Amino acid sequence: MDENKKDTISSFTRERTLKDEIKFQKGVGPLRAKDLANLNIHTVSDILFSLPRNYIDRISSGSIADLELGERNVVIVKLEKVNQITHNWKRRQLQAIFTDGESRLMGIWFQYQKWQLDILKVNGLYKVEGKVSLFNGQLQMTHPKVDQIAFGYDEPFVTEDSLTEGKKLLPIYPSSGELTQSFFKKLIYQVYQNYIHLVNETITPEILYRNKLLRLVDSVKAVHFPESRELAERGRQRLVFEELFYHQLMLLRVKAKNEAPGRGIEFQIKKTYTTTLKNSLSFTLTSAQKRVIREIVEDMQSSKIMSRLLQGDVGSGKTIVALFSMLLAVENKYQAILLVPTEVLAKQHFQSIKRLLENQEELQIELILGGNNKAKREALERIESGESNIVIGTHALLEETVKYHNVGLVVIDEQQRFGVEQRAKLPERNNNPDVLYLTATPIPRSLALTFYGDLEVSVIDELPPNRKPVKTVVKSSSGKAVVYKELEEQLQKGRQIYIVCPIISESEKLDLLDAERLYTQLSEKMFTSYKVELIHSKVKAADKDEIMRRFKAKEIDILVATTVIEVGIDVPNASVMVIEHAERFGLSQLHQLRGRVGRGSEESYCYLIAYHPLSAVAKERLSVMTQTNDGFLIAEKDLELRGSGDFFGTSQSGIPLFKFADITKDKDILESARAEAKRVVSSDTELIDEGHRLIRENYSVQYKTREKLFTY
Ligand code: ADP
Ligand code: MG
Repeated sequence: MDENKKDTISSFTRERTLKDEIKFQKGVGPLRAKDLANLNIHTVSDILFSLPRNYIDRISSGSIADLELGERNVVIVKLEKVNQITHNWKRRQLQAIFTDGESRLMGIWFQYQKWQLDILKVNGLYKVEGKVSLFNGQLQMTHPKVDQIAFGYDEPFVTEDSLTEGKKLLPIYPSSGELTQSFFKKLIYQVYQNYIHLVNETITPEILYRNKLLRLVDSVKAVHFPESRELAERGRQRLVFEELFYHQLMLLRVKAKNEAPGRGIEFQIKKTYTTTLKNSLSFTLTSAQKRVIREIVEDMQSSKIMSRLLQGDVGSGKTIVALFSMLLAVENKYQAILLVPTEVLAKQHFQSIKRLLENQEELQIELILGGNNKAKREALERIESGESNIVIGTHALLEETVKYHNVGLVVIDEQQRFGVEQRAKLPERNNNPDVLYLTATPIPRSLALTFYGDLEVSVIDELPPNRKPVKTVVKSSSGKAVVYKELEEQLQKGRQIYIVCPIISESEKLDLLDAERLYTQLSEKMFTSYKVELIHSKVKAADKDEIMRRFKAKEIDILVATTVIEVGIDVPNASVMVIEHAERFGLSQLHQLRGRVGRGSEESYCYLIAYHPLSAVAKERLSVMTQTNDGFLIAEKDLELRGSGDFFGTSQSGIPLFKFADITKDKDILESARAEAKRVVSSDTELIDEGHRLIRENYSVQYKTREKLFTY
């Protein structure tokens, strides 16, 4: 924009900035502003940088008049009207009238389900596929396949201008409330005209050039006003690259700082507590466990701050590895902390670690949970005075009332359950303790780079000997009688059983078998001669403990549960896992649940009970479960089936999702973004080089605060 013109604008109005609120833009108004806010669009910048969901090729989709009779055809059309016709109690018919602005096409279903009716929204844009016939002069498709492309498309689809050069591709934006596609189109055009000159480049020319990336302004243009699919995709890729590049830059900077020599504790090998533990084990460590312990010990001996992620499938024996590391810290007169996500798990670790160390009475081990009582206050005093050597607990460990003496090592179990913010609250950050993260959710390489790019990774890729793979069978709910017969046989052999339900109590909204109802059925009708118990998140903590204790002590035969038992529970005599409504669980969750069995030397079984109808994805999940016991394979498959967004479930992990990147699709971009970030950090960690000014400025605006969360 030339200087004169800029002056005129600013003398009449406020200076425009990319932070201008969307609600003050022409044509928006309060209602639409609210709908936009629901899509997380609040500012001009938000809308410029929202990617269309999809693109439709206007020309190749053709018009209704071009459909070929008797052939299978695909056409993109708007839904004008829906009719439900009831002939009598048995015969119902569903009709959908579609239009392309000129002609009409009728979709007919003689049998249909509610969901089919539900997806038909008047004014929505649909891709309709089926064989075309002519009936009473009207074009019809019987039982067409219908895919919704967008809601509320309020203009005829094939317009004159859609055929002109450069407008062949129609971007489709995410819909919400009253927002229509043509509203988006107008708003984006207007914002683009008024603001694009304010968008500054964020990536240096060399990096753009090396990676054949579009400039930022060009990528905005390419995604919103694409001349071709290729260009729209290149626009997207550029935005993805930028996002991943800065994220990696942050992780690598954190890593570089942690690894700066001289900051961490240099532990010495003393062979006291560690050696005593080794000699008292009733089993020999697997070679994978030995290797991983070596890796950790090397890190702990060095003067850099350890940040190591220990991955190992459920049952691979991570706890003992963590315990060796903790004892190394303790031998060096430091405290070691074990942070775990749930109380049940904290108590289990406390008990098993106490047992493993029972011949080393001089070691003081504490368990810290929520709440306040005399025992806890005494434990807190011992921790502060340095009398305690090992401290095990839940989030309660992060509270300010806990004053540590001299923390040398922090171990975080099931670390994916803790958010970045909690990681930031790690005890005694000023002491620069070494940190070991444990996870039983194996993370595919792409995700490991993404989320833990600041960590070194160790993998236990071997299960203890004599573990037999769990035999997994999928049964339809109608075949449950057979399953119960097999459960009876297992019970007679003295084995114990878990049965997991998706919900605690009966729900009006969901037609699912709940834990309470199943518990009543099993305890009162099916397995009256066995002891059945019920456990779920609403059971009081003290009762939960008592139930778990009795289950361990084999006083309970069948434990009906919800996913409270998903993580870490270790009862080797329990050899059967039944999962009700298995179709409703994610793959990693199924794998975690199955991991509760197969921990002893007995043959173990997992029954996945499926209720129909099953979606294609649910079928695929169940079939993966029967094919493999390998957590890494399952994690890869899970990622593929779910997309990276849901992989961890943000609510649980607090890991922010990427706005543009889809880690499943964008692995290659991730690798090149990481390589470029490495190049920058290895030569100029502090970003002071003049050639990195652009990067430094953008980084300090967007990432400085987040970096603090990672640095200790
Ligand atoms: P996870 O990796 O799931 O946390 P745990 O550490 O709870 O696994 O170990 C599972 C079970 O295997 C425990 O009962 C533990 O004592 C046992 N275990 C660990 N290592 C070995 C080994 N090398 N040989 C035999 N059993 C082992
Ligand atoms: Mg564990």
